Amino acid sequence: MQPFDYQRADDPQAAVDAIAKAPHARFLAGGTNLVDLMKQSVEKPSQLIDIDRIGLTKIEELPDGGLRLGALARNSDTADHPLVRQRYPMLAQAIYSGASPQLRNRATNGGNLLQRTRCYYFYEPAFAQCNKRKPGSGCGAIEGYNRIHAILGASPDCIATHPSDMCVALAALGAQVRARSERGERTIPFSEFHRLPGSHPEIDTNLRLDELILSIDLPTSPYAEHSVYVKVRDRASYAFALVSAAAALELDHGAIRSARMALGGVAHKPWRSEKAEALLVGKTPGREAWLAAANELLAGAKGYEHNAFKIAMARQTIVRAFTLALGKVEQT
Ligand code: SF4
Repeated sequence: MQPFDYQRADDPQAAVDAIAKAPHARFLAGGTNLVDLMKQSVEKPSQLIDIDRIGLTKIEELPDGGLRLGALARNSDTADHPLVRQRYPMLAQAIYSGASPQLRNRATNGGNLLQRTRCYYFYEPAFAQCNKRKPGSGCGAIEGYNRIHAILGASPDCIATHPSDMCVALAALGAQVRARSERGERTIPFSEFHRLPGSHPEIDTNLRLDELILSIDLPTSPYAEHSVYVKVRDRASYAFALVSAAAALELDHGAIRSARMALGGVAHKPWRSEKAEALLVGKTPGREAWLAAANELLAGAKGYEHNAFKIAMARQTIVRAFTLALGKVEQT
């Protein structure tokens, strides 16, 4: 691990002030991803600003009936919160499906959004080719072992996937991310928070380096009764998704009034299509409707040598998720 300077901030403004003076520094919260990457010499920050004790841990109702998830609330506290379980069960399920209890107890909500891809080539500096780790070096995965990689939104420079489960549910729910820097506060729609790789796969999100995530805000949701998160993976726990789906329905006298869905494990960001969701509006719930929406969501999907199976798997995962969402799904 490369040596680094360390300082601790006492409150959010102190953290923002500190990073404004040290533009190459990184915030350290739960450390469940960043510290791993530092040990691997994938990340080499010259300075860490510890934000673990600055607050931002509350989960509280918003005046409009939505919910504010503090950026530094632990993943487990978020999933266990009664209002999350009651109003956004799909989010609780997604969080519970990720990592291990120990990691969920340590990892923060903001950190969950910022975790980096699990591409083997990215994590191992012995591989020379990785545009995300070393811009301009090439992509080892495109011609290499790409079983866990993207089928949607990839570029000739990177086919990595975003690893978060929580973010898939947040995308489907239409969350917003509040961030603060010396320039003030701004709100980023979740659909714009993560980036596709394009020609700059080294940049994962549209959060600027000097911005501190304050909270993740959830709008009111009509989906509590009919929503589910389904994760398909190589083993039953402590594994990243090959494919996952968040699916939510609002029903009106047996027809679909509105729907939300997003896929995980298939792209550089949670994959959502409002066009695909619109196809469900007014339809009778059932396999025909689910398949039509799935096909639209997967439009343009492209498999590589080892991951073409993900296209059919994603289609069936969506069908399964909506089928489960239609029934009353018990919380985990
Ligand atoms: Fe690196 Fe992205 Fe290629 Fe993986 S897929 S080797 S992260 S450039």
